[in-house]
Amino acid sequence: MNKKTLKDIDVNGKKVLVRCDFNVPIDAETGNITDNRRIRAALPTIQYLLDNKAKVILCSHLGRPKGEFNLKYSLKPVAEELSRLLGLQVKLAEDVIGNSAKELTSNIKEGEVVLLENVRFHSEEEKNYSEFSKALANMAEIYVNDAFGTAHRAHSSTTGVASYLPAVSGFLIEKELEFLGGALENPAHPFVAILGGAKVSDKIGVIENLLDKVDTLIIGGGMAYTFYKAQGHNIGTSICEDDKLDLAKEILSKAELKGVKLLLPLDNHVSSEYSNNGEERIVPSTEIPDGFMGLDIGPKTIECFEDAVKDAKTVVWNGPLGVCEFDKFSTGTKAVATMLSKIDAVTIIGGGDSAAAIEKLGLADKMTHISTGGGASLEFLEGKVLPGIDALQNK
Ligand code: AMP
Repeated sequence: MNKKTLKDIDVNGKKVLVRCDFNVPIDAETGNITDNRRIRAALPTIQYLLDNKAKVILCSHLGRPKGEFNLKYSLKPVAEELSRLLGLQVKLAEDVIGNSAKELTSNIKEGEVVLLENVRFHSEEEKNYSEFSKALANMAEIYVNDAFGTAHRAHSSTTGVASYLPAVSGFLIEKELEFLGGALENPAHPFVAILGGAKVSDKIGVIENLLDKVDTLIIGGGMAYTFYKAQGHNIGTSICEDDKLDLAKEILSKAELKGVKLLLPLDNHVSSEYSNNGEERIVPSTEIPDGFMGLDIGPKTIECFEDAVKDAKTVVWNGPLGVCEFDKFSTGTKAVATMLSKIDAVTIIGGGDSAAAIEKLGLADKMTHISTGGGASLEFLEGKVLPGIDALQNK
């Protein structure tokens, strides 16, 4: 179902409450924002509202302050960064629905921006209490959700408030739906999905959903060893979910039944310990020696995966192919980022570690879409309805 966006309503002169995802990393010592991507991602919506003479009221969560005021989780650094990026003074309320917020939002003028304090300073936020949702709604005339990163959570500021105001999506959510939704509903073929990360159990929903849609499913990262063990191979001390062996077998036979090519790594970069300092080897994936753990894919695998994606027309990638926190074992993840940057396909990256690898390599502008929501994009790829999107008005 298509959701109404900002462009479907008249915002001129109106107070518009925008739920953003300003949950940015902040250096605990300096208090500085270390990555402003999420703030930059919200700018098109905010700028559109300013250009169209709206009165802009922003809200967001930051970290996990556990329902009470905590200066460590104040949105003050966000207000400063936004002021710098927008070239105007963003006023920060001292509270969320208290006197300061009420005063600033009742006196707000066209072209002004007020940022409410961290919505998670109230425990009611995550419980989606109607009184709290109403108090947020009372400060505005229109609600815009642009926080894709929290759209999978049914909280007051992402879902509850939409019951009390005309509710539409911002441009960021619109863009996420266009690309993630487009890949699921109407992908250009061949469609290849690359799934990595630690656990099969985290990705099972995505695997199940994608098996009905993709031509090739590539499985790498820690997940792959559960599949190898299920096939009876020795995996040494590699990460494995023993209670998911039957599930892995089921996935392998489902893929075969559906005619989906399921690719597992051919070789692995293994180590005697979970660190940068162990004894290392490159070994076939089916012959991991005792006392060694697979921490990355090997060179033959990289070649095989490259071959599998080179003619793809749609690629969805979620999760690192190895323990990318250790430099030595980030080769596979970097190689996948690089191969996707070179192909002529719609390339969609599902947030988290994969997105970070791409940013680090400076390849972000070579991808079609990098999702701003790790958990939310995963749930979307599982085919789930995200409550923060479901709550918005239909077109
Ligand atoms: P996820 O959040 O599910 O995408 O998983 C990301 C995590 O998977 C990262 O922290 C990686 O270190 C981890 N990971 C990837 N490959 C492996 C592996 N071979 N062994 C252990 N952990 C892995």
